[in-house]
Amino acid sequence: MSRDPRHDLLFEPIRLGPVVAKNRFFQVPHCNGMGYAMPRAHAAMREVKAEGGWAVVSTEECEIHPSGDVSPYVEARIWDDADIPALALMCDKVHAHGALAAIELAHNGPTSSNLYSREVALAPSHQPLKYGYPHQARMMTRADIANYRRWHRDAALRARNAGFDIVYVYAAHDLSLPMHFLQRRRNQRSDEYGGSLDNRCRLLRELIEDTKEAVGDRCAVAVRFATEEFYGDGGVSNVEAREIVQLLADLPDLWDVNIAAWHMDSQTSRFAGEAAQEPFVAWLKQVTSKPVVGVGRFTSPDTMVSQLRRGILDMIGAARPSIADPFLPRKIEQGRSEDIRECIGCNICVSGDLTSTPIRCTQNPTMGEEWRKDWHPERIAPRKSADRVLVIGAGPAGLEAARALGQRGYEVHLAEAGKELGGRVTREARLPGLAEWARVRDWRLGQIAKLQNVQVYKDNRLTAQDVIDFAADRVVLATGCRWRRDGFGRSNGGVIAGFEHMDVFTPDDVMDGRLPDGPVLLFDDDGFYLGSVIAEALCRARREVIFVTPDESAALWTRNTLEFIPIQKRLRELGVRLVVGHNLAAFHGDAATVVDVWSGATSRIACASLLAITARLPDDALYLELQTRSGECVAAGIKSVDCIGDALAPGLIAHAVYAGHRYARELDEAIVDGIPFRRERAL
Ligand code: ADP
Ligand code: SF4
Repeated sequence: MSRDPRHDLLFEPIRLGPVVAKNRFFQVPHCNGMGYAMPRAHAAMREVKAEGGWAVVSTEECEIHPSGDVSPYVEARIWDDADIPALALMCDKVHAHGALAAIELAHNGPTSSNLYSREVALAPSHQPLKYGYPHQARMMTRADIANYRRWHRDAALRARNAGFDIVYVYAAHDLSLPMHFLQRRRNQRSDEYGGSLDNRCRLLRELIEDTKEAVGDRCAVAVRFATEEFYGDGGVSNVEAREIVQLLADLPDLWDVNIAAWHMDSQTSRFAGEAAQEPFVAWLKQVTSKPVVGVGRFTSPDTMVSQLRRGILDMIGAARPSIADPFLPRKIEQGRSEDIRECIGCNICVSGDLTSTPIRCTQNPTMGEEWRKDWHPERIAPRKSADRVLVIGAGPAGLEAARALGQRGYEVHLAEAGKELGGRVTREARLPGLAEWARVRDWRLGQIAKLQNVQVYKDNRLTAQDVIDFAADRVVLATGCRWRRDGFGRSNGGVIAGFEHMDVFTPDDVMDGRLPDGPVLLFDDDGFYLGSVIAEALCRARREVIFVTPDESAALWTRNTLEFIPIQKRLRELGVRLVVGHNLAAFHGDAATVVDVWSGATSRIACASLLAITARLPDDALYLELQTRSGECVAAGIKSVDCIGDALAPGLIAHAVYAGHRYARELDEAIVDGIPFRRERAL
């Protein structure tokens, strides 16, 4: 297939200072939880992006000095020459595919922790550390500023030696000293680095000049800049941002712009759609003649072209779209846009970084596994037998297993009990704000439709006898799970009093269109996104909602997906009554008894119904029956019966997709006894 001529613009080269990007696709810096600790895994992950056609592939933020140590987060590190080889590894891999390698030099100042280095943190003025560590950052003296400029310059030289083509000066996300100097709330200095905008801009200007002078002959110098902080006069506003860019206009070789902080830049699809940042960056190109790259969770080539044509951006920046589909540019280039595995905006990728573990992605199960498991996002080993495989259940696990087995060349039969495909993804995508999650289903169905060797049967609930009669060589069950109705969960080890004889609702009821009467007491013992989404669905259906959780806040785990703040706002906008730090003791039909988790004091809350989000139970009856009838299975020629995804252990959609993919990868392969992946070790 050849490229759609409407997309040609995306493949025009563009000069960035002394280097040329071969097209307009720019993988902007993104965290990945591997960083300095897992350089091989990191390099392999970046390599697939380069192979997939991104003209520029960047590191995540890269600490330049121990006084800006962001542990426990695992980012890149370039403290001294000993860090060069790990970063050179990435450069070599990226260059092997004709892409440019970029590095985002960072010193986090008062947004560091220094938990590892034990250095005193630095800031424009004395202030507490942002992330709650009980230590303050001290005001930088002029000598400190001079030192900092030297560290940054040295880091730039090391970066050039490592092989990087683009070196960033980072002034975004409220995460780096040049930005902290711009912010009035952090910069109360009265010397030439504080006060007027010119003064607050001084450090950023000096860093750009230093970097250009040090490496500008060979490397482009990019500025990553936040154009809006939503912080009023205390922060960088869109108005002031424009003045700042006017002051520095053509000094850098490239402007990489976004909004701050990270939770605003990387909003989930529940809170922001494609190209949502346009209003905040649309003016950049009127103020600078240098190329501008920006982000907006771009997955549609038409939207990308529109950004270029309308003069909003010169390059299409992407973190999440490049994670969900490292081959996005290549697919557009080959006229295969329909094959793009579109990001669903769930931010499970972010949770890797925020839990200091390797990145994983809902849509792309190979993300983070490129080196340690040798998994490639596009390639998979051909089948090793002529086995027929029966996949039962077409949720994310079953769909991914069927797709990947089909890609390997197996004859696959996918049976689904329901009239629609997609399992939980289809059901959850109907809830407020989660429509994009259907992309998990749609991409897989699109791929399966191209495979002659995969048959899909809807409205086909299989019994154990059906499975035995079908006599496939391999059977894999991906039959999903259901929310419990008994109250059992993290906070309650047994059935909650009253649940056994009252009509208790669960998220499954809401997804099936069966809504409880209001006022609804929503008991959330799960702590992730679903409680807030169900609360929103109920509010939109004009039910009064009382949200009770044993946690100290609603949706606590969404801190890891950057949704915590918008969810708190949304719940308050909806008028949800929040009762935090309370467990549910009993339900009486017209009221519930709740107990303060700290004092043990009980109180009664009047409600017409109760909706419990506590825990789930696998739908594994079919699997268990097949196990008891293993003799009949063997007699029918069935070599293996496996259970995957939510039917084995309920979890995230990402877990289910991974389980389906893993099943397909491992079929007919030698069974690994022990550690099923490679590890990186210092010694
Ligand atoms: P997962 O997240 O593990 O993929 P889901 O709950 O999303 O699980 O999907 C499970 C799917 O399996 C549902 O669509 C359900 O209708 C289907 N299913 C459950 N039992 C059977 C069965 N006996 N035969 C066929 N399909 C089944
Ligand atoms: Fe997109 Fe979710 Fe994958 Fe992140 S984890 S890249 S948000 S699909």
